[in-house]
Amino acid sequence: MFRSASVIVTLMISVALAQTAQPQAHSPTQSDEDIARIVGYSMTRGGALTFLETLTDTIGGRITGSPEDRAAAELILKTLKDAGIDSAHLEEYDLASTWRHGPATGEVISPVKRALIIGSYGWVPGTPGPIEVPVTDFGSVGGDRDPLPARVRGAAIIVDLRSNGSSSTYVGARAIIARRLAQAGASAMFIVSDKPDRMVYTSAFGFYPRAPLPVISIASADAAFLRRLLAHGDVRVRLNVQNSFPGPGKERNVVADIKGSDPSEMVLLCAHFDSWDAAQGANDNGAGVAAVLEAARIFKLLRIQPKHTIRFVFFSGEEQLSNGSRAYVEQHKDELDKIRAVFNVDSGAHPPLGFAIHGRQDMEAISKVLLKPLAPLGADRVFLDADFDSDQETFIVAGLPIYSLRVEPGDYDSRHHTIIDTFERVDPRMLAIHTAVMAVAGYSFANAEQRPGRRLSPAEVQDLLKRTGLEQLYQLEYSAEKPN
Ligand SMILES: [Zn+2]
Repeated sequence: MFRSASVIVTLMISVALAQTAQPQAHSPTQSDEDIARIVGYSMTRGGALTFLETLTDTIGGRITGSPEDRAAAELILKTLKDAGIDSAHLEEYDLASTWRHGPATGEVISPVKRALIIGSYGWVPGTPGPIEVPVTDFGSVGGDRDPLPARVRGAAIIVDLRSNGSSSTYVGARAIIARRLAQAGASAMFIVSDKPDRMVYTSAFGFYPRAPLPVISIASADAAFLRRLLAHGDVRVRLNVQNSFPGPGKERNVVADIKGSDPSEMVLLCAHFDSWDAAQGANDNGAGVAAVLEAARIFKLLRIQPKHTIRFVFFSGEEQLSNGSRAYVEQHKDELDKIRAVFNVDSGAHPPLGFAIHGRQDMEAISKVLLKPLAPLGADRVFLDADFDSDQETFIVAGLPIYSLRVEPGDYDSRHHTIIDTFERVDPRMLAIHTAVMAVAGYSFANAEQRPGRRLSPAEVQDLLKRTGLEQLYQLEYSAEKPN
């Protein structure tokens, strides 16, 4: 087979055109090579998935202050040490209040007999043994100042917060209404679950260190059933919630460093390892822990030394009042100024989009530049909006540049704190990508010429909280008993 001269000339011209249209290829820099190796290992080693399986199947749900949570701290520590990260250690702090999750049962006893699907919220008291009480419907609650219904004293009150705005408003309203109902003498508060398939929900946000009355999640179908019965007359239920408060306790964070060639500054990569016990705490937040831990192992394995130190911090106590991160900031207050940036992952292993910078407009432009290496992973976007629903809140309050991983939501909300937060629902490919995203973000910020932003003064933090609408939640959380 041969080609005519004209075809060859045409080919040569098109090759020349193609070359001018393409960006100039450059030989890879050290940074390009490091990032390629980090991403390659994240995607091929399977280390995060293996760790997550061990965490979820051998330990399972990990309530703060429980033996399971202690075991999780030991497992994280041992895994880091086994990888040769000798700096790994535990940092203990005091927990003002521990809680034991007992069984919770409920049934209608009048006008019919029927079992109810319920589950206890966290850090709420039990009932004084089995109690038989009337049911009152508060109905759909629009705000925390709505007038209380007439018959509250001695009753179990159905409160439906499902359409109550953002999660911040929801959490704030929930705690305030619980307090008002307790003051009015209610026996229990039923919160209508917003989960599908008759699932119930749990949380301690707004209730730690101790809720003022038993707060119980009731499946939406079961609440609807109670409300239909109430439309025809009085309804009574029997409740038996057997929670207890053993008293103050101890918890631990796990901390490990990959030391930089210039350790005068550092970048933090963080995830919380405590969880609820309805299932295995796989997506919230075993996945985040597995990604951050595997990122640390990859730096060690590939012998990549960043310019500044990358510190890996695994918090306990997030689900109560971000106790672990608050203890960390207190215990490390003398070195907070060394922190260039804090990266927190508590999003579930869904497709990553980028990072939220919580209202820090001053960091927007530089963050876009420093997150550029994450563009091929689809994770280089910068989100300005702010929230207060994980350990990032501690670092917002400390005035530090804080980045929270943002993901496509997927079914995160339906799994969140329910019986289906299990290992087999975590997407192994997304877990590997999260590992790469956290490691590359840490590498990029630790090696950057400049810091992404300065530390805000306490007055500037207050201004930021006001500007981003987080002031009410801040007051709710920071007026509660200090974690240590
Ligand atoms: Zn979480």
